[in-house]
Amino acid sequence: MSFDIFNLSLELTKALEKNNYKVPTPIQEAVIPLVKTKQDIMAQAKTGSGKTASFVIPILETLKEDEVQKKAKIKVLVLAPTRELTLQIAQTFSTLSQTFSKQLSIVSVIGGEKIGEQLLKIQKGCDIVVATSGRLVDIIGKKQIDLSTIEYFVLDEADKMLDLGFVQELDEILKIIPKNRQNLLFSATFSPKVIDIASKITNKALKVKI
Ligand code: AMP
Repeated sequence: MSFDIFNLSLELTKALEKNNYKVPTPIQEAVIPLVKTKQDIMAQAKTGSGKTASFVIPILETLKEDEVQKKAKIKVLVLAPTRELTLQIAQTFSTLSQTFSKQLSIVSVIGGEKIGEQLLKIQKGCDIVVATSGRLVDIIGKKQIDLSTIEYFVLDEADKMLDLGFVQELDEILKIIPKNRQNLLFSATFSPKVIDIASKITNKALKVKI
């Protein structure tokens, strides 16, 4: 089994080769084709399973095909519970889009770092925002970000986000993103709390369990 089964673009295939991604992991095998169907997904996957690339690959594939605009609009919003995970996800987007002729702008919005630089990058225009909820809510409060153009909303490690008490922040973010979007939720467990939040966020989500 290789990545050939997904019929990915030449650019993405090259990026995967460069980064030594030869065989898709089980979560990638399941999730990559489903994202392409535009349906909402809730997937049970742990760190180390390759879950990040399972959403990064199909999202990059569609962004690559988008027209180049004068100022990029935010199409993808990923929320993660920790700074470390946020940076790793942003890094995966960046590494796997290295080979693209159109350079994508990816911004990490995390606490503990100067807000000014993050605001500047957002103002210049970006395609992808990967954020922890606290800092994103700060920026929303300052009216410094336009999330009305979001097409993909990814919630990574949903169980951890709930454990860390990010529900209120999540609610604030959900209020201002478009209703018409594709939702991808990942969680190590499907506890009743996760299922409850998933029912708020997703619409007829396909469940993936590996
Ligand atoms: P994740 O579970 O998303 O945190 O990924 C774990 C690690 O596996 C990361 O370092 C990825 O770069 C790597 N990885 C993910 N998918 C593959 C793959 N299909 N082949 C090789 N490495 C991979």
